[in-house]
Amino acid sequence: MTLDFGPNEEGYGKAMVVFAHPDDAEWGCSGTASKLVSENWDVTYVVCTDGSKGTANRDISSKQLSKIRQQEQINAGKIIGLTDVIFLGYPDGYLEPSLNLRKDIAREIRKHKPGILICPYPMRSLDGPYQGSGHPDHIAAGEATLSAVFPSARDHLTFPDLLQEGFEPWAVKEVWIVGHPNPDLFIDISSEFEKSVSALLAHKSQMSMNDDEVRQRLIEWKGKTIHNNSNFGFKGRAHGQGMKYAESFKRLKY
Ligand SMILES: [Zn+2]
Repeated sequence: MTLDFGPNEEGYGKAMVVFAHPDDAEWGCSGTASKLVSENWDVTYVVCTDGSKGTANRDISSKQLSKIRQQEQINAGKIIGLTDVIFLGYPDGYLEPSLNLRKDIAREIRKHKPGILICPYPMRSLDGPYQGSGHPDHIAAGEATLSAVFPSARDHLTFPDLLQEGFEPWAVKEVWIVGHPNPDLFIDISSEFEKSVSALLAHKSQMSMNDDEVRQRLIEWKGKTIHNNSNFGFKGRAHGQGMKYAESFKRLKY
C-alpha cells in the first residue's frame, strides 16, 4: 500500500482525472489510475478536448480523427478498468480556461464526487526537460480544473444552474498535479506498469514510435535512471524513491 488512506475513508473512494487530450493521462498518470482501481477506487476520466488536431496525416479529417481518438481513449480506459470516460468535446488546440470549461468540469465533479482529482500543471515551465514547450491546452485544462475544484464545485451560489440541474456542491479532498517541477507525492506503480504501457499503446493513432520504443520511453520516465539527454537532464520518477516504477505529483489538500 503506497497511499496513506483507503477508499473507505469518508469523502474518498472515487477519483477523477481531468486532462486535455486523449492519451495525456496515459503518458502522465495511468499507472496511478490503474493502482487506484486495483485498490477498489472508482476512477473516471474527463477529457476536455475532442482530440481533433493530433495528426500529420492530411488524408484524415478532424471529425474522423476525433472519432478514432475517442474510441482509443475508451479502449485504454477498459484496460485500466475505469468507471467512466467523459468527453467534454472542446475543439483541440484552442482550449481556454474559460468560465464554460470551468463550469463543465465543476458539473462533472459534482456529479461524480471524487475525493482525489488529478490534473495537469497549470503553468508554462521554462526550466527542466520540457523547456517551455507545454501545450496550451494542458495549461488551460489545469487552470480550469483547479478553479472548478475551488470554489465552483464547492459553492452552491456559483453556477446556480448546476444546482437547478440537480448537482449538489461537492468538496474535493485532494488535487494531485501532474508535471509539477517539484513533486512531493510518489506513487509506486510497479505492479501496474505493464497495464499502463498497454493503455498507452491503445492510442494507436498517436504513435510515431513502435511498441518497444514506447515501452522504453515509459521506462525512462517512470523508472530509476538519471538521464542526461537534454540540456537539463532529468531523473526517472522512481529515482531515489525505493520503487521500480513511479509516477509523481504535487499534492494539494483542501
Ligand atoms: Zn496533450
